[in-house]
Amino acid sequence: MPHFHFQLNGTHGVLTFDREGSSANIFDRPALVELNEKLDALSAHPELTGLIIRSAKPSIFIAGADLKVLSSLQGDDLRDLIELGQATFEKLARLPYVTVAAIHGACVGGGCELALACDWRVASDASVTKIGLPETNLGILPAWGGTTRLPRLIGLPKALPIILGGKVMAAGAAKAKGLVDAVVPKENLDAYALTFLDRGKRHLKPFFHLHNPLSIAIIGAKARSALRAKSRGLYPGPEAALDVALASCSGPIKEGFRREKEAILKLAPRPETRQLLRLFFLQERAKKHRFVAAEPRKIGQCAVIGAGVMGAGIAYWLSTRGHDVILRDLDDDALARGMKSIARNYDESRSRRILTPTAAARGMDRIHPSATPVPLDRCDLVIEAAVERLDIKQKVFADLSSRVRPDTILATNTSALPVHELASVITHPERLVGLHFFNPVHRMPLVEVVRTATTSDETLATAVAFVRSLGKLPVVVRDAPGFLVNRILMPYLVEAARIFERGGDPKAIDDAMLDFGMPMGPLRLLDEVGLDVSAHVARTLAEAFPDRMKVPDLLEKLIARGQLGRKSGAGFYSYDHNEATPNPAALALRTGNEPAPSDVAARLNHAMSQEARLCLSEGIAETADDIDLAMVLGTGYAPFRGGPLQDELKHPS
Ligand code: NAD
Repeated sequence: MPHFHFQLNGTHGVLTFDREGSSANIFDRPALVELNEKLDALSAHPELTGLIIRSAKPSIFIAGADLKVLSSLQGDDLRDLIELGQATFEKLARLPYVTVAAIHGACVGGGCELALACDWRVASDASVTKIGLPETNLGILPAWGGTTRLPRLIGLPKALPIILGGKVMAAGAAKAKGLVDAVVPKENLDAYALTFLDRGKRHLKPFFHLHNPLSIAIIGAKARSALRAKSRGLYPGPEAALDVALASCSGPIKEGFRREKEAILKLAPRPETRQLLRLFFLQERAKKHRFVAAEPRKIGQCAVIGAGVMGAGIAYWLSTRGHDVILRDLDDDALARGMKSIARNYDESRSRRILTPTAAARGMDRIHPSATPVPLDRCDLVIEAAVERLDIKQKVFADLSSRVRPDTILATNTSALPVHELASVITHPERLVGLHFFNPVHRMPLVEVVRTATTSDETLATAVAFVRSLGKLPVVVRDAPGFLVNRILMPYLVEAARIFERGGDPKAIDDAMLDFGMPMGPLRLLDEVGLDVSAHVARTLAEAFPDRMKVPDLLEKLIARGQLGRKSGAGFYSYDHNEATPNPAALALRTGNEPAPSDVAARLNHAMSQEARLCLSEGIAETADDIDLAMVLGTGYAPFRGGPLQDELKHPS
């Protein structure tokens, strides 16, 4: 299967990566072998003074290594593949004439490492262009030269966050960091890349700190403490990448390659790496899996009912993806609050260079707020995000049902109310579905797609395709109390509140779960979600499962005092700006003086795993993989442990 085409244009060559029969360019062994051969064959053209590397794919420059292959290799096989990649890119770097990567589309992992081996990098400003080194997210490190080359190109202080953070950036942000040299419109990319041929071979400026052991040590110590604060030493990938980057930023480049190789050989067989790779493949599956055979319909104009926290968040997200959105609330004040929060989101996207000013202005224009009923006959989808009360939602749906087309899909964002109880008030109940977005909508990647007994296959397929078109990942769940994520999360939160109620120290409880790998402790999470909102979900579950679920009295007492968590200034903690200290009133409400048990993390995790097993046996989601993925994406469940149904790394280390 050919991958590369070479074209000689006078005195410069153009090497185009176009993996046959695939929409993506990726590196596996045959692709690397062929690139090697193509680079060798260049010596037959003594007239060459420069080489441009580009891609023929519409949205991918090079998406990196073939992870299916990489994850299946160990030992000598993995060593061979790493050595082949390093040798190939080094051959490219050592060409005696100038080399330019003309980047349009995803340029990540091994693709970015190839680009780093070129003298210059020019990128298109298209939104599909994303550049970075996400390897540490998968438990490994850039080992085809990236960990060694990037600090030499842009210096350690800028390179370390890119390597250790595993983030991919838009072209503008990559330019600001020095990772690319120019950003131009896609139409001008090839022509602009040509102008870089005149610049000649690049001579890297020697960064002072790369030759100074003291400054390397200082930068390294700072990076290590930031890393520890973030990941509490639970992720071996970034730790190893940091060691390699610090040791390899000066001295012979070959030594750097050797360290990269040794590090990846040690990381690959680790259970954390296997879980992170598994989650990556599960996300890929969630992007494509056909939950039902029906063909989805296209969704154009939408309406969102309710401009509160969730409604505004959903309307913002839909408008960024090109949908016109009617945003409906009861009065102008509620709408003004919603529009203000949408404007804030657009401002942030602009300042973080996620959206251009024009794209942000256009997105804002796509939202049409209304405090009075407006015609909805052009809407293909209406998402209801009004207050969490069945009677109100039923009124909203009865009204909607009379004012939309018979084929308009009606969705609710309810957290825990039974979706089927809305089916009874509408015509054509087959078009009803739950679309449970998580808060904050623009950050949370998961959407639970709730299927009722009457939801048609076409509605479900359309809802799933719509969620994907928004760049979110769907998990299809049954219409049952708490659906999937809240049902599994709530026993954990309630158990944490109970341990506190019996006398447990709040920081000891939260720290235990941070050490377990959760992004936030359970009591802090209760405060963030809001004690009233949490108790509402907990009560729904207590009604459904009275034998194993009870809302702790302490939670009700705090709510009765108006202490609802962060939004009211106090809950389990008192909040003063960013400072959170245990709330004396909550401490005083405890009924015992039992300290938190030493195995608190194992107990709390057990509460989740047990409920997850019940969800699996009741068919709330299709597979155990769906449940693990939903908990990682919906709650931040420690990704390196793989989810509540994975046993291997379940117990705290
Ligand atoms: P919110 O109180 O912030 O906003 C609700 C909005 O709905 C208010 O602006 C209110 O004026 C409006 N509203 C009430 N009745 C209406 C009607 N008849 N027509 C139009 N608008 C009406 O609530 P929220 O936090 O945005 O929650 C909305 C829904 O999303 C609830 O069902 C909630 O359970 C669910 N949800 C919330 C979260 C969360 O973290 N807040 C997460 C997921 C799902």
